[in-house]
Amino acid sequence: MLMGLSYEEIIDKIKEKGLSQTEIENKIKQRLEQLSGLISKEGAAQIIANELGVKIFRDVGKLKVKEIKIGMRDIEVDGKIVNVNEVRSFKTEKREGRVASLMLGDETGQIRIVLWDEGQIKRIENNEIKEGLILKIKNTYCRDNNGFKELHLNARSEIVLNPEGVVIENVAESMSSAEFSHKNISELKESDRNIILRGTIVQLFDPRFYEVCEKCGKRALMENGVFKCADHDVVGIKYAIVLNLFFDDGTDNIRVVCFRDAAENVLGKKEDELQNIKENPAEFENLRKDILGKQLEINGRGTMNEMFNRLEFIASRVEELKPEKLLQ
Ligand SMILES: [Zn+2]
Repeated sequence: MLMGLSYEEIIDKIKEKGLSQTEIENKIKQRLEQLSGLISKEGAAQIIANELGVKIFRDVGKLKVKEIKIGMRDIEVDGKIVNVNEVRSFKTEKREGRVASLMLGDETGQIRIVLWDEGQIKRIENNEIKEGLILKIKNTYCRDNNGFKELHLNARSEIVLNPEGVVIENVAESMSSAEFSHKNISELKESDRNIILRGTIVQLFDPRFYEVCEKCGKRALMENGVFKCADHDVVGIKYAIVLNLFFDDGTDNIRVVCFRDAAENVLGKKEDELQNIKENPAEFENLRKDILGKQLEINGRGTMNEMFNRLEFIASRVEELKPEKLLQ
């Protein structure tokens, strides 16, 4: 059985690099503050370990998609390309470049593959790597992106097209059906990922809105009087919604944070309809009455809100609860 390391074990590993307990804990605390409670203590420790080149997993070798865990390195996996996304350019203060992604699947699940190496990106552009082909990927590592696992490839990673002897008959339908598992709120932990909660909205807070880039939808921030996103200067902006609610499943209740699509699905409103609510907060009062008591299935992950020292749940997908699901 492959296991990730516990928080204490990660710290012990980092100590091997010559840092003291206090130095390590300060780094972790700093990182937690920087990410304002968006990640767990363990998550922050993993990031620090990765930055220092400390291996927090054994070399894991060949795995099925479902067996891949966040933080694993040197993974080898076979899969069929389900789809290939458009190559994107990016520019940050630190660097600029291009990134490509595709979905890879086997009979146990699907996972997003992210390519940063220009040589590999060119193979996508010239259609050498395309939908339907079977790939073997070596020397890749797994990262968390909003509760979803991603395999990241760099120049050291290797892609083998149509590897000999590899047959993939059926690809599992989706990431969620293969990887999410139901949990009671009373059992939820901050390190839990890919969780399904089923319950009732018992309280709904006023929505908040934040600026995003009109072109790419990323967070836009004011800098010297103009808005910028990670990719674009002086962007036109629109507003994205974040909605907090209390959710109860009979075992306990928890604050759930819903961004954008998740919030739209809670409210049953499209993005443009929500702009009205931003202009006329009174309209939200009518909506609130309809939404309270609604039963939902929410996919997402646990997170510790360090500021309030409480466990919360970040929604990645929200669906109305269908009665037959309760029987599962
Ligand atoms: Zn943008």
